[in-house]
Amino acid sequence: MKKYLRTLSLSLLASSLLFSATPIFAQKLDNPSIHAFDNKVIKKIDVENIYGNVAYFANSIGARVAGTENEKKTVDYIAAQFKQFGYDQVEIQPFEFIQGYKAPTKTTFTVDGQAFDVGAFGYSSNTQGDITGELVYIGLGKLEDVEGKDLTGKIALIKRGDIAFTEKVKNAKEAGAVGVVIFNNTSAPFNSSLGASETNLPTVSMSGTLGEELVNILENGSLSATLTIEGAEIMKGTSHNVIATKKPHPKHDTGQVIILGAHHDSVAVGTGASDNASGTAVLLEAARVLANTQTDTEIRFITFGAEERGLLGSRFYAQNMSDEDIERTVGMFNMDMVGSKNSGEKLVMFTYDGKENTVTTLGNSAGSRLHEPVPFNQVGRSDHQPFTEVGIDAAVFSYAPLEPEYHSPGDVLELISKDKLLMTAEVIIASIYHAARPDTPALQRAKVAPVLIPAEKDEDVKL
Ligand SMILES: [Zn+2]
Repeated sequence: MKKYLRTLSLSLLASSLLFSATPIFAQKLDNPSIHAFDNKVIKKIDVENIYGNVAYFANSIGARVAGTENEKKTVDYIAAQFKQFGYDQVEIQPFEFIQGYKAPTKTTFTVDGQAFDVGAFGYSSNTQGDITGELVYIGLGKLEDVEGKDLTGKIALIKRGDIAFTEKVKNAKEAGAVGVVIFNNTSAPFNSSLGASETNLPTVSMSGTLGEELVNILENGSLSATLTIEGAEIMKGTSHNVIATKKPHPKHDTGQVIILGAHHDSVAVGTGASDNASGTAVLLEAARVLANTQTDTEIRFITFGAEERGLLGSRFYAQNMSDEDIERTVGMFNMDMVGSKNSGEKLVMFTYDGKENTVTTLGNSAGSRLHEPVPFNQVGRSDHQPFTEVGIDAAVFSYAPLEPEYHSPGDVLELISKDKLLMTAEVIIASIYHAARPDTPALQRAKVAPVLIPAEKDEDVKL
């Protein structure tokens, strides 16, 4: 079922190219019925609603960092809005995430009784008492460096460079090591962090001078080392996704699902007006406009938490979808930063894999009918990425290049453009309605149905 639209788009495109006397772009100029097709939904859009919600998020609430009171306020407001629009299936979906790390109170490392200066890596585990074991040098700690080695109960000595610290530690752990010492590739000591995780090995950093000293000794003999890390704490927080589900008409149900998403959290600086009160507010307006419009496709409106912590809410949602649910989902439309006066003028799309898909085709088709074509290029970095990772066609809509106020105190309501909010809302809502309206399975026979125009890839479109 997931391939349905794709097949449709190809056959439609082929037939329009073969049998249409006028070029497909002429359609928007000389065929008023095409506007009638979109007008059913886009005439209902009120940009003042969108702007009002951006103002509410940015000014009445302010920064909406995942796991804070402000995020919870935002989540409750969004859920209340969905209910007010008439949705009875509204879910607030909590998920835990790692919010921070409290450095250890004690970090020591001794080799054959002699103390060495070390620093603990961020997100290192505690040693739960002392760890004593043979110190083994494994070069850069790459996969080939540990291949065939049994490091069970040993402490791995690894040189900095080439691959991420987290990867070095993971490789050592998989080979059985119980602790890791990473030394610098210059003489100086250094401090760094592993990826936020509760399962990192106890890991410390060391200067290049000390590290090379140990490597030299190990060339001609063996060493026993003791590592102690105490008092480190991994702090947990709870963030939330908010999901409103619009069920299809029971007698006209394609069994398909379309997801519209936007993250509601923000970074701590600024008020997150563009990033991403704008996308969240357009999503709310789409939910309002489509609430009482009959569709043959289930539409899920989802605002995600903790996007700014690494796409955590969208990944939690996508990873918890069943295979059947994934199979039924024909497209995921994501909006991120869709309203700054200072971003580029062009509405654009990005896919994580750099390939066109159902979403880019629907988006470009709607843009071509209503305004202008919407090109796409390759970028992940937002909530469409986890959906692509599980095999769902997905794209993010944004304006490129991004405004200079991105993730800065300058991301405020005063820089929000109503024109851009409206353009986004029109293209998004028309795209979704194109696929979800009850006559689309018979698209080829519906005289007013617009053709599908695959989006052009434009490598010059950059964030
Ligand atoms: Zn964002």
